[in-house]
Amino acid sequence: MQLNIGKICNLCCKHCHVQAGPHRKEYMSKEIMDDCLFVFKKHNFKTMDITGGAPEMIPNFEYLVAQSRKIAKEVIVRTNLCILLQEKYRHLIEFYKDNKVTIFCSLPFYTKETTDGIRGEGVYDSSIEVLKKLNSVGYGKDLTLNLVYNPDGAFLPDSQKYLENEYRKKLSEKYGIVFNNLFTITNNPIGRFGMSLYKKDHLKSYMLKLFNAYNEDTVEFLMCRNEINVSYDGYIFDCDFNQAIDLKINSNKIHISDYKNHNFSKRKIALGNHCYACTAGAGSS
Ligand code: SF4
Ligand code: SF4
Repeated sequence: MQLNIGKICNLCCKHCHVQAGPHRKEYMSKEIMDDCLFVFKKHNFKTMDITGGAPEMIPNFEYLVAQSRKIAKEVIVRTNLCILLQEKYRHLIEFYKDNKVTIFCSLPFYTKETTDGIRGEGVYDSSIEVLKKLNSVGYGKDLTLNLVYNPDGAFLPDSQKYLENEYRKKLSEKYGIVFNNLFTITNNPIGRFGMSLYKKDHLKSYMLKLFNAYNEDTVEFLMCRNEINVSYDGYIFDCDFNQAIDLKINSNKIHISDYKNHNFSKRKIALGNHCYACTAGAGSS
């Protein structure tokens, strides 16, 4: 179960398909969090995957993590790292450690120029500082710290294995930073990234690139096949890309509260042209 608990974020990245930022106000109420926890337990979900925006900035975030810890085999938080340097959120590094949270963090590249170009001035240095702090409490060793790479533009990522080796070498040599895995994500042509492609008249050529790179072997592993995604206001989607374009699940029960008293039935995944981002090359996320 993946929860997008709000659109509020301290950053405003140009590739953000959620279109999150400091100006956004939407967040999940405690009531909806409780419905998610109830449904999670009742239907025997295994992994709670908490994302945003910046999930740390959402009221009752710590409550959600602590309650999830009691019922989930694994609790994942997707963090942008820099938020953990702010006074109000510094303590969360210890909190993550105490709750054995698996951390996924986006680091667009191992160089300052590219990362700051995508996420904003100063983000790279802040991210490096937080990665060191996470290492110092055991992340990248006993606790899982996974990095996420996405291309700086309208092209497919290089091989995941190659990039993982490069990141490992560069971050270790320069900063002594360790991590567990690196995942590559293909930019999805929706949200802020889709709009920038459209404005530059690159949307068609990027779509064609994705279409031509279709790889049938990726289909078995698409994340929509074994997860549900819940929006801040409790609606269910097959994945957060579908949520970003408001493409709800194929069902007459589309809200998390509907499943407090009903079972999930087999359904057809809601697909669109944006799905070619998940099936291109070696696949995505
Ligand atoms: S990509 Fe992540 S860190 Fe960047 S604005 Fe979107 S939610 Fe925030
Ligand atoms: S293939 Fe489509 S529905 Fe499945 S995860 Fe990708 S965008 Fe979502």
